[in-house]
Amino acid sequence: MTSATAKAVGPAPDGGTPAEGRDGSTPDLGQRIAAVTRAAEEHLDETERDAVFPEHALAEMRRTGLLGLLVPVEYGGLGGTVTDLVDVSMALGRTDMSVAMILAMHCQQSEAIVRYAASGLREELLRQLASGHLYLASVTTEPGKGGHLFRSYAPLREGEDTLEINRTAPIVTGGTVADGFLITMRSPQATADHHVSLVYAHRHQLRVEGAGVWCPMGMRASHSVPLTLTGTIPARQVIGEHGAFHRIAQSVFGPLAHLGWSAAWLGTAAGALSRVLRLLRDPAGRKRLDLGSELLMTRLSRARARLDTVHALLRRTEALVASGADLSAASSQLLLNNLKITAAEECYRAVDLLVDAVGLRHGYLQDSPTRLEKTLRDLRSAVLNYSNDRLHLADGQLCLLDPGVRFA
Ligand SMILES: Cc1cc2nc3c(=O)[nH]c(=O)nc-3n(C[C@H](O)[C@H](O)[C@H](O)COP(=O)(O)OP(=O)(O)OC[C@H]3O[C@@H](n4cnc5c(N)ncnc54)[C@H](O)[C@@H]3O)c2cc1C
Repeated sequence: MTSATAKAVGPAPDGGTPAEGRDGSTPDLGQRIAAVTRAAEEHLDETERDAVFPEHALAEMRRTGLLGLLVPVEYGGLGGTVTDLVDVSMALGRTDMSVAMILAMHCQQSEAIVRYAASGLREELLRQLASGHLYLASVTTEPGKGGHLFRSYAPLREGEDTLEINRTAPIVTGGTVADGFLITMRSPQATADHHVSLVYAHRHQLRVEGAGVWCPMGMRASHSVPLTLTGTIPARQVIGEHGAFHRIAQSVFGPLAHLGWSAAWLGTAAGALSRVLRLLRDPAGRKRLDLGSELLMTRLSRARARLDTVHALLRRTEALVASGADLSAASSQLLLNNLKITAAEECYRAVDLLVDAVGLRHGYLQDSPTRLEKTLRDLRSAVLNYSNDRLHLADGQLCLLDPGVRFA
């Protein structure tokens, strides 16, 4: 059971911490989300045009305590649940998918610390997360293995009570601004590529060098740059024991990534549908569109049906994770994988349908208030972000382990 399962969002910490509102009161989750959304919206043109990190939105995540969403209340965090993570990711996705992914991925990293960091390091990092001083980046992708999560080729070398990091990272969301990194590397005593360790490194413990530019089709504000990371960290900064990454991946990274990403994608597609519907209902905006068109009605219906399907699957999977069930069972892994596969495909298809529904002016031009052009580019990344092909391959093998076809 993840510690994010049994908790409810509690009060923000006392004493002028970033979790307090401007007037000193404690804003609820909705107010915290609204503050981040406002900052994201205000700078959307610039982050999209220049493919730069949404620093103002991050500042609001720090100030409102959202970086500590899954951190237990006793460490000053919000003590949020997996449902809170889904709700926040969906809500932010309605404004900008990059901002939603930034927070969802950060929360996935922070939960690994909550559950697996050794005492001492754990307390130190949880307090930093709760106070908004620790934004975490993820380093799992590696040259030569693509997104293959359970392998690492870069060797983690042991010194006397130290670990030496030398890691090429082809794509690190928020890598230029992150305060700390969770990095997968080949374990010191590894005898096979799948003996992988997860380590934490503060930014100041590393030399962080840019290794290229970020100029993508979509997800431009995620600023997912290539980096080279080198440095020496204390041996106690291994998360879980050496070689234990597969357990962390199965219990935390996989479930929370698939839930958080899918929620971000669903929120993004729902935001697009909402903007289209508002345009259609607005007497001024709908002048060039025929609300009597059966084709238009059918397309709206099909888009909505796709989103309702993803929403049902998302909430079912969220309930499974929140229940504390053993997620290593084949049926649970299949459900988690199929959520990611289905959300990635269906959210993209729903928005693609909307482009046909409203046509060139509001479906294809950048300056339309529907923002379908940007939304479609952003959602195109979903099947690639941990490749659906890889998940289908894993699912095929999981199917063979469940000949009775029992559903989680
Ligand atoms: C916006 C965005 C942000 C990201 N941020 C981060 C981040 O912060 N940190 C991080 O570490 N990573 C990040 N990633 C990387 C992501 O998680 C994936 O690991 C990565 O996109 C996979 O890259 P790939 O397509 O080159 O590699 P692969 O997964 O290797 O896929 C390449 C191609 O080969 C095919 N393929 C390869 N091997 C197999 C196989 N065994 N079975 C079936 N098909 C196969 C795939 O279908 C695909 O078409 C991000 C990705 C995106 C899109």
